[in-house]
Amino acid sequence: MQLNSDEIANIIKDQIKNYSEKTSLLDVGTVISVGDGIANIYGLEDCMSGELLEFEDGTNAMALNLEEDTIGAIILGSCDNIKEGATVTKTGRIVSVPVGEELIGRVVNALGQPIDGAGPIDSKQWRNIENKAAGIIEREPVDTPLQTGITAIDAMIPIGRGQRELIIGDRQTGKTTIGIDTIINQKGKNMICIYVAIGQKNSTVAQVVETLRSNGALDYTIVVSASASESSALQYIAPYSGCAMAEYFMEQGKDVLCVYDDLSKHAVAYRAISLLLKRPPGREAYPGDVFYLHSRLLERAAKLSTAKGGGSITALPVIETQAGDISAYIPTNVISITDGQIFLESELFMSGIRPAINPGLSVSRVGGKAQIKAMKKLSGPLKLLYSQFTELKAFTQFGTDLDEATKRQIDQGERIVEVLKQQNNSPIDVACQVILVYAVVNHLLKDIELEDIADFKNGLIEYATINKTELLNQIKTDGITDDAANNIEKTISEYKNMFLVDK
Ligand code: ATP
Ligand code: MG
Repeated sequence: MQLNSDEIANIIKDQIKNYSEKTSLLDVGTVISVGDGIANIYGLEDCMSGELLEFEDGTNAMALNLEEDTIGAIILGSCDNIKEGATVTKTGRIVSVPVGEELIGRVVNALGQPIDGAGPIDSKQWRNIENKAAGIIEREPVDTPLQTGITAIDAMIPIGRGQRELIIGDRQTGKTTIGIDTIINQKGKNMICIYVAIGQKNSTVAQVVETLRSNGALDYTIVVSASASESSALQYIAPYSGCAMAEYFMEQGKDVLCVYDDLSKHAVAYRAISLLLKRPPGREAYPGDVFYLHSRLLERAAKLSTAKGGGSITALPVIETQAGDISAYIPTNVISITDGQIFLESELFMSGIRPAINPGLSVSRVGGKAQIKAMKKLSGPLKLLYSQFTELKAFTQFGTDLDEATKRQIDQGERIVEVLKQQNNSPIDVACQVILVYAVVNHLLKDIELEDIADFKNGLIEYATINKTELLNQIKTDGITDDAANNIEKTISEYKNMFLVDK
């Protein structure tokens, strides 16, 4: 670090002059060095960790390193106008963001300032970006389903309100799509969604916002974006900002869904900051507290008790792996923090199985408690049949002669894979999902050709939605009673007759 000798002399002179004096509060500091988004500041003696600082020109910074004489701060914005020797003042508050209904439907940066060109946000309340997570007493077990609208997930890896479910996979395997589709499926379900984009291209974020808008999902969504072009500091605070916005709604008893896309880039931003702040590097050059970085964020997801209003935050963090390696440092950390993971594979994605979920490596530790009764009943057999099929398929690649029973199993397995395929941005209602899974588990699709399954599936959903509202409601409320089972079978055979005649 290059120090200006005059400055040092002044500081030393000051110290000598004030030697016997009882030191008074010193609220103004001086910039000693600045660069790479980091400022070293002398003074500001009783500064708090995480406190918001302000430079002469109005730029903000956040104090991170509190050392004996100096403070290491990350600059929240551009550091072009900050010069050596500039004065810095404390604001007396921890970095905070605006929260409230006014933000819904808007695109904001990590500081909660609008970046969508739709005018200022007139919010009345502010909230610290870092907050303590709810304690044990304030929580309740996760037991209410959060429907993603994606059959493979709702049937096999169910997510509950208040759960933290990781979406993990290589690049371009449909991770973002799962988060966005889940947001789209919350339409009319009284859920507020927050999508936090960290270190992504501005064009990608614009595309996501457009997808949300065209599906009518922006009306209940806040997009927080700290793009790749913004400083590491903003990328670092973005998920905490998003979480603070979510907590405001949770405390009012509302249900919130947070998608953090993605935490790998978040960890990289934090690594950059830490190295610049001269914190000691550890494994893969990440600082020692990189686990805490994500655990304190994801712990804030909760299902509050009725006494606390019963609100919830569900977190869907995204992690990008390199060549499917889930045992790398950051992936294992986040896997151990969350309540399960949805593992996406390039190989499946390339072979046309989309969403490319690997059901063997994906789990939800909340499980059946987060499913409606009807789906819970089908979930077990579906998972069993699927895994048996995967095993058989590997075995039959050797081209051995197969007996009837094995053929039948493979036949059914192939149909399960077909039924679980789903286009992006086209969520399926949970009752329709039940009908589809019921059909395939009970071998009712055996007379449909494999390549016709996709058409059949879409047709059946449409047929049931238009003609069988009563049955769909019955499935949602009562589960699969004998009566409902009869009705489901009747619906399937009715539609099958129409479908096969058309063929
Ligand atoms: P990145 O690593 O770049 O963030 P990602 O893993 O988030 O990628 P997406 O952006 O969600 O992946 O998806 C990659 C591409 O695959 C997109 O063009 C998307 O439209 C397409 N895609 C994703 N899911 C499906 C699906 N179920 N059906 C068809 N196409 C899909
Ligand atoms: Mg993505």
